[in-house]
Amino acid sequence: MKKKVGIVGGGAAGMVAAVFAARNGAEVTILEGNDRLGKKILSTGNGKCNLGNMRLSTEDYYTGDTAFLKNRLEEFGTEDTIAFFNQLGLMVKQIGDGLYPVSEQASTVLDALRYEIKAKKIQVINGFHVEKVRRNQAKNKICVMQKENVLEFDSLVLACGGKAAPKTGSDGSGYELAKSIGHSLVPVVPALVQLKCKEEWFKSISGVRAKAGICVRGNDEKEYEENGEIQFTDYGISGIPVFQLSRVANYILRERKEIEFIIDFLPWMNKEGFAERLLAERSSIEDGRTLEEYFTGILNKKIMLLFLKICGLHPGDLVKSVKRDKLKKVYELCRDFKVTVVGSNSFDNAQVCAGGVPLHEVSEGMESGKMPGVFLAGELLDVDGKCGGYNLQWAWCSGAIAGTSAAK
Ligand SMILES: Cc1cc2nc3c(=O)[nH]c(=O)nc-3n(C[C@H](O)[C@H](O)[C@H](O)COP(=O)(O)OP(=O)(O)OC[C@H]3O[C@@H](n4cnc5c(N)ncnc54)[C@H](O)[C@@H]3O)c2cc1C
Repeated sequence: MKKKVGIVGGGAAGMVAAVFAARNGAEVTILEGNDRLGKKILSTGNGKCNLGNMRLSTEDYYTGDTAFLKNRLEEFGTEDTIAFFNQLGLMVKQIGDGLYPVSEQASTVLDALRYEIKAKKIQVINGFHVEKVRRNQAKNKICVMQKENVLEFDSLVLACGGKAAPKTGSDGSGYELAKSIGHSLVPVVPALVQLKCKEEWFKSISGVRAKAGICVRGNDEKEYEENGEIQFTDYGISGIPVFQLSRVANYILRERKEIEFIIDFLPWMNKEGFAERLLAERSSIEDGRTLEEYFTGILNKKIMLLFLKICGLHPGDLVKSVKRDKLKKVYELCRDFKVTVVGSNSFDNAQVCAGGVPLHEVSEGMESGKMPGVFLAGELLDVDGKCGGYNLQWAWCSGAIAGTSAAK
């Protein structure tokens, strides 16, 4: 008799779990709430799907249990991801440190998974939104329910994702299912998301992009810092470095109303004595120039004009008529520009969720410590990565381990 394995959620983690369960001899059924599998995969990596990273390190992840994560990523890491997709017929290439399908089409990643699911004769039931999970002690089965429909399995993988981008199907119901079988949750907040700021002048610099450093002090008093292209919007800040810090911001915002972020527009230059140095170096261009003319050639013009406004200066004023302290203040803003974050965009705009089921509540084989026979995988767990293929890597990794264990 083949072991019957049910997979709740046909996203990245669920599809890989299904393939590994089938490879290990199980009869597998995927229960997917949507009318199709893997909807979210199509929007990953701007439609190109950044499916992994050559520099895989736990430093690029946030979780409550780094040692557990490290061990799992050693079991199924970047090389395993490449080998897995090659076995499916998908050619993978490296762009920077990131891994992408050679086609640069996320749809080909999904197709490769779908064709393997078909070849392995895995049953897919679309439109089955699991509402309840129960253990039938007498029959030693795990039951899943959608209204009056009840299906029974020998083991079950919960791979429902989090609640980021709910339009793709991950509506947060996985957290409720996990709680209903006894799991706790590390508070779930949006991550890899844009941040909203308090200052009114954001409209004046909307659309500006600047390579800069940005940092914030976390709840744990640690300084979190990122470098890269910051994008200014009419309501706040965006771009990869902001995305990477957004989960830190959202955890702080659970406790405080606002947070100070500091932007350094020239992070590669020595900060000590910066303003005095620039004042001296640029003294040759002071004569006869207005402030607008004098401050041209340092940063984006809209940013410099904003700095003048913040310092109470008028772009048309002559440099010679302005006190040195005021000029110094403008230079200081280039290195120490404070913005007040008061919120983030919602789960609708977030790429992932931070928080979820703590890793200490699952075994090395990803089995639930609360309901034996149930396995957990993917974003539902308390693991979130930075931009760069880390989140999909975790979905493949945890899916492969959960699927293999569920079949055994
Ligand atoms: C715009 C965007 C871009 C991204 N780009 C990248 C990228 O380039 N690289 C990267 O590494 N990561 C990226 N991510 C993150 C990555 O897509 C996710 O981390 C990953 O898909 C999580 O996989 P998962 O299987 O755990 O969850 P999901 O992919 O969300 O799949 C969960 C599935 O479960 C189904 N489901 C939910 N509840 C139920 C239920 N009760 N019953 C039945 N079915 C249910 C859902 O319909 C869904 O199909 C991106 C995310 C977004 C939103």
